[in-house]
Amino acid sequence: MRRVALVTGGTRGLGRGIAIALHQDGLQVAAIYRGNEAAARTLQTETGIPVYAWDVSNYQACVEGISQVERDIGPIDVLVNNAGITRDSMFHRMTEQQWLEVMRTNLGSMFNMCRGVINGMRERLYGRIINISSINGRKGQVGQANYAASKAGVIGFTRSLALESAGKGITVNAVAPGYCETDMVGAVPADLLKTIVAGIPMGRLGQPQDVSRLVSLLVSEQAGFITGATFDVNGGQWMP
Ligand code: NDP
Repeated sequence: MRRVALVTGGTRGLGRGIAIALHQDGLQVAAIYRGNEAAARTLQTETGIPVYAWDVSNYQACVEGISQVERDIGPIDVLVNNAGITRDSMFHRMTEQQWLEVMRTNLGSMFNMCRGVINGMRERLYGRIINISSINGRKGQVGQANYAASKAGVIGFTRSLALESAGKGITVNAVAPGYCETDMVGAVPADLLKTIVAGIPMGRLGQPQDVSRLVSLLVSEQAGFITGATFDVNGGQWMP
């Protein structure tokens, strides 16, 4: 049986790496994106992975989008909540909009997407949910009170849903990447990035496949006893 996997933010960066890895593992993958049509088209052309555009911060859009994917491909067995944004600012200058956009996209999407798939997984007694957190949700970061709060929230959400879902054959785990080479980190000023890399014991940024290999493992049938965990993938930059 080919499992069906949904990867939010699956057309660029870490999500693209995850979508491709799961596709190569033999799953039927659908990738969700917001508006970058060029990146979506490239993924679809290069891999044949179907892409769907909707805003994961919008509950109704998620309900409708999930139904569409289920009609097109089948019931969703695997959900990777990867879509995320930054709106960095020192807190004393942070606007309500910067706060809300990040909370709605990074944390609101956890509710919106999981709520849409959880009942089907409970009925079918099988599910794999992977939520992408961040090193900065674990340790905090200057200029990222909104982002760090949202990513710390992802961990509390993951643990709670794991507890509620364990008896139904559903595992729920979080992955907390360190700094990885994607468009999101490309937006960090070069001198700051140099300082960040100097603070990574492995001496390099992470690559999408550093994260996708772990997600592959967590999604596999063999990972059925791993739930409620948070995995750091950060080259040794931060250890709890
Ligand atoms: P990118 O900015 O490279 O890609 C983001 C992806 O998410 C794109 O596909 C984008 O779609 C999609 N997306 C963003 N907002 C929405 C939305 N509202 N609805 C639907 N899709 C959306 O991000 P990264 O690959 O760098 O990051 C992926 C995840 O990993 C994020 O959650 C991030 O916080 C986390 N992370 C990243 C780290 C890094 O160093 N890169 C470190 C730690 C955590 P579109 O292309 O249409 O804009």
